[in-house]
Parts: sequence; structure tokens; C-alpha cells
Amino acid sequence: MSHNVSLELIDINTVSSIQNSLSHLTGFSLSVYGEKGNLILPPVSEDKFLSALKASQKGRDEYNDFLKRSIEKVAHRRDVSVIKGPAAQYYFFIPVCMNNVTFVITGGGVFFSTKEFEDFYIKDGESYGFPLPQLKSWSQEIFVSDYVAIHEASRYLQFLFNLFLKCGYENNLNEKKYRLTKTILSLISNIELDKKADEVYELLIDVLLFLFSADSVSIMVKDNELFRSQRAGGRLKEHLQTMRLKSTGVITEVLEKQRPLHSEDMMEILKLGLSDEVTSIYLFPIVLKNRVIGLLGIFNSPIAQEDADVIFDLCRIIGFVFRLLDLQSIYDRRLKNIHVLDLATTRLNPVKEPEMLYDAIVDLSVHLIGAERGSLMLIEDGSSYLTIKAAKGINKLLLKEIRIKLGEGIAGRVFKEGVPLIMDDIERNGKVLLKRRPNYKTSSFMSIPLKAGEKTIGVFNISDKVTGEIFSEEDMAILQSFLSYASIALERSMYYSLAGHLRELSITDALTGLFNRRYFEERFFEELQRSERHNLSFSLAMMDIDDFKLFNDTEGHLAGDEVLKNIANIAKDSLRVIDVIARFGGEEFAVIMPQTEKKEAFLVAERIRKSIKEQLPTTWKVFPKDTITITIGVAVFPSDGKDRVELIRNTDRALYKGKMEGKDKTVVWGW
Ligand code: GH3
Ligand code: MG
Ligand code: MG
Repeated sequence: MSHNVSLELIDINTVSSIQNSLSHLTGFSLSVYGEKGNLILPPVSEDKFLSALKASQKGRDEYNDFLKRSIEKVAHRRDVSVIKGPAAQYYFFIPVCMNNVTFVITGGGVFFSTKEFEDFYIKDGESYGFPLPQLKSWSQEIFVSDYVAIHEASRYLQFLFNLFLKCGYENNLNEKKYRLTKTILSLISNIELDKKADEVYELLIDVLLFLFSADSVSIMVKDNELFRSQRAGGRLKEHLQTMRLKSTGVITEVLEKQRPLHSEDMMEILKLGLSDEVTSIYLFPIVLKNRVIGLLGIFNSPIAQEDADVIFDLCRIIGFVFRLLDLQSIYDRRLKNIHVLDLATTRLNPVKEPEMLYDAIVDLSVHLIGAERGSLMLIEDGSSYLTIKAAKGINKLLLKEIRIKLGEGIAGRVFKEGVPLIMDDIERNGKVLLKRRPNYKTSSFMSIPLKAGEKTIGVFNISDKVTGEIFSEEDMAILQSFLSYASIALERSMYYSLAGHLRELSITDALTGLFNRRYFEERFFEELQRSERHNLSFSLAMMDIDDFKLFNDTEGHLAGDEVLKNIANIAKDSLRVIDVIARFGGEEFAVIMPQTEKKEAFLVAERIRKSIKEQLPTTWKVFPKDTITITIGVAVFPSDGKDRVELIRNTDRALYKGKMEGKDKTVVWGW
């Protein structure tokens, strides 16, 4: 027996192929280092943000120093560590020990929250060569997760690395185990994260039937107190496919111990509700987040203890894959939400013509959900009919004539009840509701009320998913989120177009052309309700001109009015379409920023403040300052105030603090 096992004895190709498979599976860029911090295998592809960070001297030095220190620390421990690196990123370090040779596998580059990333970026980004205007695009690139998830993932990675290394090393000793390891590796390489659970099950069943010559296999998913068969294979496939097992006897024990169990006791087997064709069962738990979410059952097959260990390992890998699918879908949803807000802000520009706005809303909605047909219906002022304002994939001439009485038909009912509707089958459900139904290609349909505050102003209908699938709850959530912005734009355009100048006069301020205080209070109230209902935050900013009394006193009231007008115009141009700016009082302005957190509100406020300072014409003679400046206070719903009074009070306090601290600045409440 050799006591001098060195790195050469471990096949570097095996390590490399393990590294590849696991990088692929987890989406992390994994690197392998020796215990002294020497790089053994570089990552297959480096994390984008890390690469950008390392492009700066400062970032490179800090990262290298961090790596060296962390690896030395971790190499002598047996446990995984998650450590904070430069730029507020977290990395995991996984020590793997094999015959006295220690490696450290590292990866990560994860942020624990978008807020933490933005904090870092705003405060220190520039010093690493990250320009402030790129904050938004970078915040879509980064990977956000939490400590528990990262720690859990690194434990799995350690387990898998150990498993594979051991099998790779012992390949001469145990041929079957080696074959299985190779299979698991290639299996993992083939699991794409966009795969559905069903496909993962399918793979697992094939492996078991093939490698262990199992007679019959079933994967069961927990459904309340029952385990329902999700997928089955082998001789008893037909029978197993429709099986439901009760959580009694052996199963209770598997759930408690989270360990595999075996039984040939006929009474036990019958008690579970299995047919008498089954003579033996081997049950393996599939665990996700410390809970048993499913069972793998192998029936009528003698399984050696050694093989059972390996199958249990396989189940743990499956649990891990589900955890990743889970994380991936949370991440996707977040990206989609950012996308929705982006679309609404950039594309629903203050379209002057209402017709163009209608068309844009239909086009964007249909595009967002991937549908072929959509229609926008609005209520005519004072009438009891909905009319179609814009449509896609539907003959426009035909639709022009259609008027839908409130409360009648699907759209009319959705309008009246103010509750969205998903239908998976128009053929079945629609007949009752729709008298003359156009010829829909597929049968799924959504109808969503458009709300401006408490008032319903119309209905949006969408049908025919391009993929031929039915609409999901998630489609509905995305569309609703987009339409809530569209409604703001619509409502505003209705103010202008429907009631003409009269209405406009009553909501705008004569001097500045901004919304007046009355309209602000209305919109503010609506925003409070909307945000409460959808669980969103929004920001409120109050701006006050610095030393304006002195300006009036030195330059005259008329010159002061001119400055007010100019400031209003500059501020308006620095905002996004969904933001609402109003003249709150004499020389005070208020801004409502829907779905905006502190960081972003701060950026918006700073943009206004700087634009005014830079763009305002300075033609005065006596006023002693070079430029006119403003001070801004910001507070966020609901963290800084859950109602109108509290939120305005804290915004005012932030503004007052800014004045006390020397003016010409933005103060965010609670920072
Ligand atoms: P601070 O930096 O603390 O804000 O000092 P300030 O002088 O701006 O103080 P304050 O905000 O209390 O002053 C409000 C002044 O704004 C009083 C008034 O002369 C001026 N003002 C208010 N409404 C109008 C207006 O419609 N036109 C003009 N020209 N001036 C206005
Ligand atoms: Mg004031
Ligand atoms: Mg003032």
C-alpha cells in the first residue's frame, strides 16, 4: 500500500469532467484549487460580473487576495464555507479530500439581495470601473440568492464531488459503481434546467430499469396525505401508474427517518393499498428543503445493500435538481417582472394620440404573453357600453360595430365584477356566456379588467397562445402587472381626450402645466390602494427650491415665476412616464414613483436635482448664488409610512433634514 498518494494518482480528467457536469447542472462557474491556493482547473466560463470586476486593478487585487486567504482557511476544515468577497458578492468554498490530497472547489459570486448589490454599486461601483448609468442593466445580470440556498447547494456539491471522486478512484475495485457514476455524470450533463419535472423522472426510471435490472419502478409525489404515482416503468407499469399510497406503516417510517426502507411483509404491502402482484417493496425518499416531497419505489426486485446506497445517492441528486429548478423559476419570475416595468416605462411613452396608445397596449400585451389575438375595450364616458378601441388578430371592421353591454358576455361581466378571468376552455365554458362567438383557434382565453384606482375603465381580452398551450396563472400575473401601468397611461389619455380642455384645466396647474394638488391627492390615494393590493412599494419625493424667498426678493416675483416654469419643465423631462409630478404648493413639487424602491427613487431624484442645476438658465443680476438649487426628500411606501399622513410626514422630514444639512441634496428617509 502506498502512503505517498499524490495528485497524479487522481485522474485529472475525471475531476475535470465532474467539474464540467456540475457547473452545467448548477449554473455556477466552478474552479478547482490546490490547498495552497494554486489553480488546478479554471472555470469553464467565468461569471460575467466577476470578469468585469477583475478588469479593474483594484477588483483583481482584492479578488486574488480574497481567494488566497479563503482557500488557506478552508483547506484545513472539512466543512463548506460561504464567505463574503469583494463587491458584496458571496462565494462558497468546498474542501474535498482524497487520500491526503485536498482540493478546494469554489464558485458563487452571488448577491443576497438586489438591495445589497445596488448599495454596493451606488456607493463603490465607480471605483471598480462600473459607471452609475449601467446599474440597471447590471442588476439584471447578477445572480441573487440567499445564504441557506447557497450553503445547501455547496453541501450537495461537496457530496457529489466526493461521490464521483471516490467512484472514479475505485473504478478497478467496483465496476458496477463506476458504471453508475459515469451514468449519473452524463445524466446530470443532460438535465437542462428548463426541463420539466416529468422529464427528470423519466430519466431516473430509465436508469433504474437499465442499471439495476429492476422489475418495476414508480416515482410518487406527495399529495396531502397520499403519495400519487407520477410516473412508472417496468412490468407492473400499468398497475403502478394509477396507484395512490397512504402514509401509513412503512411510509410513515420513511418520512420520519428520511432513509430508505425495505419490506417483504405481505400485510404491510396490502395495507399500503398495493395489489397482491407486489411481493416486495423498497422505498427511497426524495427530499427537498428537508421535506420529503416524493418517493421512489422499486418493486419485486432484490436490491443489494451496496446498490441501495447508490440509489439513495441518486435520489438525493434528484432532490437537488428540483431545488435548482425551484431557484431557477424564482429567478426567471424576477427577470420577467423587471422586463414588464421596462416595457411599460420605455414603450408606453407619453403617446399624444390615444389611438396610438391603444395600439401600443395591445401589441405589447400580446407580445409579452406570446398570444395571437388581443383586444382592448374601454367604456365610453357616461355610456353603459364597452367599445373595442384596438385589436390584434381580429378583423377590425367587424369589431368596430361591436358594443358590449356592461354585465353581458364575458367581457361585460368581467367589467362589471372587476375580477379577472382565465378560461381553459371556451368551448365548454364560453357557450353559456357568449352568444355569437368568433372562431377561436385554441380554447384558452383571459379577460382582465383595467382599473384606474377603484374605477374600472375597460377590459383587456387575450386568446390563442402561439405555443398552443393554455394560459397559466403566471401569464395572468404578468399581464395584470403590465396592464396596471397601461391603465395609468390610459386614464391620463382619457382625461385629455374624452372631456377635453375642461377636464384638463381642472387637473393642471396654470403656471407650470404640471398636475395640480387636487389631482395629486387623487392619484396618491389610488397609488396607495394599488400598491397595497398588489403588495408593491412606491416612492414619494418632495422637492423644495432653495432660498427662493431671497430670489423673489432680489429678482422680483415675475422672474421667480419664470424659474418655477423652467424647473417644472426640466423636472418633468427627467421622469419616467409612469411617474406623476404635481405642483404641491407654492414652490414645492411632489413626485409619485410607482413600483420604485429607495435606491431607484434616489437615482431618479438625483437626476432631477442635477438636471435643474445644469440646465436652468441663469440670467439674473442680483441673486447672490450662481445656480438655483433644490432639496429633495424621499420616503417609500410601505416601509416609511403605511398611510397618507405618515408617508407625507416622513417625506417632509427627509426634506427638512436636507435643508438643515446645507440644502442642494437628496435625503432618503431612513438611510
Ligand atoms: P429654503 O431654502 O429653506 O426652502 O428657503 P426658501 O426661501 O425657499 O423658503 P420657503 O421654501 O419657505 O420659501 C417659499 C417662498 O417661495 C415664498 C415665496 O416668496 C416663494 N413662492 C411661493 N410660491 C410662489 C410663486 O407662485 N411664485 C413666486 N415667484 N414665488 C413663490
Ligand atoms: Mg417651501
Ligand atoms: Mg424653498
